[in-house]
Amino acid sequence: MNNIVIENIKKYLEENKANIVADIKDLVKVPSVSEDLPKVKECLRLLISKAEKMGFNAHSVLDDSIGIIEMGEGTETIGVLTHIDVVPVDDPEKWNTEPFDVVEKDGVLFGRGVLDDKGCIVSSLYAMQALKELNLPINKKIQLIVGTQEEVEWTDMNQYIKEFKLPDYGFTPDGQFPICNKEKGYADIAFKFTSSNNQDGEFEVINFSSGNATNSVPAVAVAKLKGDVEKLQTMLDAYLKENTDSKITINKNEDILIVTAEGVSGHSAFPHLSVNPIVMLGKFLNTLTFKENAKSNAIKFVAENCYDYFGKGLGVYSESEYFEGEYMHRNVISPTVVKDEDSDCTVILNMRPVYGTTLEGLEETFAKVSAESKSKYEILDFLAPIFVSKEKPFLQIMADTYDELSDGLKNDFTLGHGTSYAKAMPNTVAWGPVFYDEDECCHVANEYISLEKLLRATHIYSVALARMVESKDSLI
Ligand SMILES: [Zn+2]
Repeated sequence: MNNIVIENIKKYLEENKANIVADIKDLVKVPSVSEDLPKVKECLRLLISKAEKMGFNAHSVLDDSIGIIEMGEGTETIGVLTHIDVVPVDDPEKWNTEPFDVVEKDGVLFGRGVLDDKGCIVSSLYAMQALKELNLPINKKIQLIVGTQEEVEWTDMNQYIKEFKLPDYGFTPDGQFPICNKEKGYADIAFKFTSSNNQDGEFEVINFSSGNATNSVPAVAVAKLKGDVEKLQTMLDAYLKENTDSKITINKNEDILIVTAEGVSGHSAFPHLSVNPIVMLGKFLNTLTFKENAKSNAIKFVAENCYDYFGKGLGVYSESEYFEGEYMHRNVISPTVVKDEDSDCTVILNMRPVYGTTLEGLEETFAKVSAESKSKYEILDFLAPIFVSKEKPFLQIMADTYDELSDGLKNDFTLGHGTSYAKAMPNTVAWGPVFYDEDECCHVANEYISLEKLLRATHIYSVALARMVESKDSLI
């Protein structure tokens, strides 16, 4: 592709700047918060009608829960994966503008969804439109796929995957540049303790609980015990002398001893940034002798199996941080919720498995752990980690285009610790539109996107797509 085409695409996008802004404004005006299905569907229909007017083949499927906007024909299909639902406006007081009424100020758009992901939908749409309007050679199909439940449970996409033919490869403009071709997986695993043989011990645990969201390390963990308060205080004082970074206190309420561990809460994908109070409390309590019950077994499990967030005690430690020469990091796993129900106790672990860790492998490992710890385990949720080799030709096109058009920034192939829409489809990577970390403002008040950067991202998308569809070769 020659430079004139690249310049023409840029020119086309600049000439359409006002239309791009107007379309973003229109889409943001419909408050398509994931839980408000009528509004989400209304917003999707609005997008479909806009796309039809622009000359695309556009329709929705599954009762307006997925939108498909297509152009071109060929043996391969490139998928561009986006979503039209947005997260709620939790605190309107924190917004300087009306969240669903886009305000443009000094070249920056403010509003819920201007970045995540309505701005990206419009960007993708015009990236495709440029190829059409400039009559560029097209030998592949491009499918802009628009989900409606991305911010919640992906019910729409899970259904779509089962019933429709998926693109061969592609990207999701719902993250950051450069190319995120590796993404950790996601798993929640429950270990349920029920057994009790009431052996003698100095203390009895009557309650052990913490946390309420499986994807965050909680701030506090609490155990309620029966036993001698002076003895407990002496044990704790001695323990804290040795373990100076532990913050544990004892309160007494009638004959109940309340032991509280205070950690630092945080995202469970990055356990090194938080201090886990469940583990802190478990380690201390495990120095006591308990009358055995479900709760004391849960404490023992936490102390002996969950002490290390790389999963050494659970048998899931990844020996290498690399796979096929690419940096993958290691498995991380942390207890995030402890649920105390009558005589039972359940510890829920949140895991971010690396590529190479399989569901079958985890089942085998956890079966052993649960047998040894007198518990039953259940994998509540599992999303496989993803890895798309950087050698794939379509990724090379994306990498080269970014290097060329990103105003001096260099491409790289990065690892995502969280979960993006890339997990929904094969050979899909998260790619843009955010250029720098400090631009990341999804899900917060005053969500914004700079028009200049959005146009630059759109130019990159458009040229990369043009190069992919120009090629008659397979790019996978
Ligand atoms: Zn998003």
